[in-house]
Amino acid sequence: MPLFSVNLKVAAEDERASRMKVEVSPTLCDGYEPLPGALSLPIDELRVATFDDVFRLMGSEEELGARRLFLDLRGFTEQELSRLIVYLAPVLYRWTGEDFVVVLPDQVDAKDYLPPFADLLRSLELRSRGIRIISCPTCARCRTDFPEMVRSIEDRLEQMETPLDVAVMGCEVNGPGEARAADIGIAFGDQKGMLFKKGEKVRVVTIEEAADVLLAEIDVMAKEAAQAAQEAASEA
Ligand code: SF4
Repeated sequence: MPLFSVNLKVAAEDERASRMKVEVSPTLCDGYEPLPGALSLPIDELRVATFDDVFRLMGSEEELGARRLFLDLRGFTEQELSRLIVYLAPVLYRWTGEDFVVVLPDQVDAKDYLPPFADLLRSLELRSRGIRIISCPTCARCRTDFPEMVRSIEDRLEQMETPLDVAVMGCEVNGPGEARAADIGIAFGDQKGMLFKKGEKVRVVTIEEAADVLLAEIDVMAKEAAQAAQEAASEA
C-alpha cells in the first residue's frame, strides 16, 4: 500500500508564520497500519476518507488543530484524487497540526501523486523545500511558445531543495509583475524575454537560451542560500 507522510514540526507557539519556515519533505514509509473503519476522530487526528469528510471540514467553523491529518484515499478513483487536491486546499490552509499522512489507493503510483501533494503544501507555504514554478496559462498576448520549456525546467529542478519562487510569464504586459515578485523570473515578449532577479531587471534572454540561463542563475542562488544558512548556523 503506497503511503507517505509529511511531518510539519510546529513551533512552540503554534504560529502559522513559524510553520512556514519549517523544512519538511514527503517520505515514503512502510509498516504504518491505519486504523480500520471510515471517519473517526480521535482527539489528535482528523481523518478524511470520503469527499463528505472533506466538505464537512471545509464547512466547519472549528479550529482544525488535530495533531495528525490522515487522508485515507483507498476508496478514491484517480479522477477523484485529482479533484480532491483542489478541495483540500482550504482544509490544509486552516489545519495547524504537524503530521500529514496519506494512504493512496493500490492502483495509483505514489511517484505520480507525491508531486501534486507536495505542490499543494508548497503553494500553501506549509512546505519550505523546493522550487515553486509560477507560470501563466498563456493567452492571445503571448508571442512565445514556452510551456515546453517550463516543463523541462520543472523536470530538471525536481530534486532541488532550496525554496525559491521561479516565474515564467508569457507577455510584457502582465508578466513583469509576477516575474519581479518572484525570486527569479522571465517575462517573455516576442521570442525573447526580460530576466528579473530579486525584483531587478538583469538582462534580455532569447527563448533558446532561457532555460539554461534560468537554471544557471537558480544554481547560483541555491549555493548562496546554502552558504547563508551555513553562516547563520555557525553564528547561532
Ligand atoms: S501573463 Fe500575459 S500572456 Fe500570460 S496569461 Fe497573462 S496576459 Fe496572457
